[in-house]
Amino acid sequence: MTSIETIRHSLSHILAAAIQELYPGTKFGMGPAIEDGFYYDFELSKNLTPEALPKIEKRMKEIIRHGIAFKKKIITKSEAKKIFKNQPYKLEIIKDLPGSKITIYESGTFIDLCKGPHIKSSKEITEESFKLKKIAGAYWRGSEKNTMLTRIYGIAFEDKKHLEEHLKKEAEAEKRDHRILGQKLELFLFDEEVGAGLPLWQPKGATLRKTIENYLYKELISQGYQWLVTPHIGKLDLWKTSGHWELYRENMYSPFGIDEEEYMLKPMNCPFHVKIYNSKIRSYKDLPLRYAELGTVYRYEKSGVLHGLTRVRGFTQDDAHIICTPGQLTEELTKLLKSGIKMLKTFGFKDFDIYLSTMPEKHAGDIQGWTKATNVLKFVLNKLKLKYSVDPEGGVFYGPKIDIKVKDSLGRSWQCTTIQVDFNLPDKFKMVYIDEKGKKQTPNMIHRALLGSLERFIGVLIEHYSGALPLWLSPLQVWVIPIADRHKKYALKVAETLKADFRVEVKDENETVSKKIRAGEIQKVPYLLVVGDTEMKKKTVRVRERGKGDTGEISITKFLQKIKKSLI
Ligand SMILES: [Zn+2]
Ligand SMILES: [Zn+2]
Repeated sequence: MTSIETIRHSLSHILAAAIQELYPGTKFGMGPAIEDGFYYDFELSKNLTPEALPKIEKRMKEIIRHGIAFKKKIITKSEAKKIFKNQPYKLEIIKDLPGSKITIYESGTFIDLCKGPHIKSSKEITEESFKLKKIAGAYWRGSEKNTMLTRIYGIAFEDKKHLEEHLKKEAEAEKRDHRILGQKLELFLFDEEVGAGLPLWQPKGATLRKTIENYLYKELISQGYQWLVTPHIGKLDLWKTSGHWELYRENMYSPFGIDEEEYMLKPMNCPFHVKIYNSKIRSYKDLPLRYAELGTVYRYEKSGVLHGLTRVRGFTQDDAHIICTPGQLTEELTKLLKSGIKMLKTFGFKDFDIYLSTMPEKHAGDIQGWTKATNVLKFVLNKLKLKYSVDPEGGVFYGPKIDIKVKDSLGRSWQCTTIQVDFNLPDKFKMVYIDEKGKKQTPNMIHRALLGSLERFIGVLIEHYSGALPLWLSPLQVWVIPIADRHKKYALKVAETLKADFRVEVKDENETVSKKIRAGEIQKVPYLLVVGDTEMKKKTVRVRERGKGDTGEISITKFLQKIKKSLI
């Protein structure tokens, strides 16, 4: 059976064939299959708008119906140069291709340089199984120094049913888009004058964030962590010692002067934690030391990849460094993996993908250290019977790592937890401890972030829950809605009773009750309590529960007992 990749790739040729017919004189770039579909890059003599897509799609369907064959031919380089004499991008590819033979594919009147494989005939494609999606600009060969070409994207699936399922999923994802929900729920915003990728947290978003921070603090202190706070900038020399300047510079912002010295915004918190460790002589009895910080770091991201809260330029990691003896490493890693998964489950994630990332091309330290560290990580994963995949060369420059991606309610995977073993920084900063025999030894260091960054994690949470956050995380938990002015005092009393345990507001604006209920639903408030004459007399509330509607009248004490149970 023809693979879906082959069909997608063949569709890119059919797209190019349609473009060749509709827009003579077009210069062709490249057209591969991608996840869910395909694209092709063109240099067109006129600007294309999305309105042109249906016309191109129609032409593609006509070509498919016509049943054109895909014919593979092997020709010489000089023959190829003749065929593509008016196609500068193809000539460039031909020049770079090794060997003297070149494979081309003919499909109808369109000829392309291509290794294949392809379908035999366009009849293998179902007309209703693909759709052109969008037009974007793309530099030839991805370099900003080259011409900007027009890229047309399409999606394609096995059949109409799969395509429709995908479109439905996409529409659902759009509805959950945290950038839209974040604005609607007044959680955070971006401001052009402040700068791209720098979120501003509004009161409700900051409340959500603080709730997560409080949870983390409590949980980590109970797990034996110590809390640290360190600055946002540090001297350039510090980043030279740590190796960041040499191996991580492309992710860092340029140095800036203070007095006569050069400083950098921090891309990581590690060197600061190391300095605190090194401020005293440490004995083996002090280890393991677990230092935690909500550390705000700044990393360079191209403006094109910035995306709401999930890709930003300044963010706060729930960072920690565990400094231990080599003998304690396995136990510490085991604890970390267990507590990481437990915490992610608390936030409502049930499915995880786990990856083990190995030595990247740019790395510090020797191979033995890397092998040793990778083996320890493998050992721990196997001991806990966790299924994982290997991400070759995906490690950080100072060591291998385990990453945990959570699966959200739409089945999408998001990177959160990262646990990294480091045999390099302790050497670079000459970290030591005194062992049982009174001798100086180098400790091991683990870098880890469980949620990843608060920004990204909150973005994921919003999409996972479609904005309807669980009670404990909801910035607004309860609204009390008095029916008339005379119920205001009672509403305030109800609020007073709940205030110690919940974030509660009395909605006494001059609006109709139904309007307030509607507003509460839009704001995704978990509980709306309506109070009128009956409730006032009987000391009860009428409950509207999010997603369930009116659930009836209940005494205030009973209501409080009930919702306290659903907190974590
Ligand atoms: Zn091809
Ligand atoms: Zn670190």
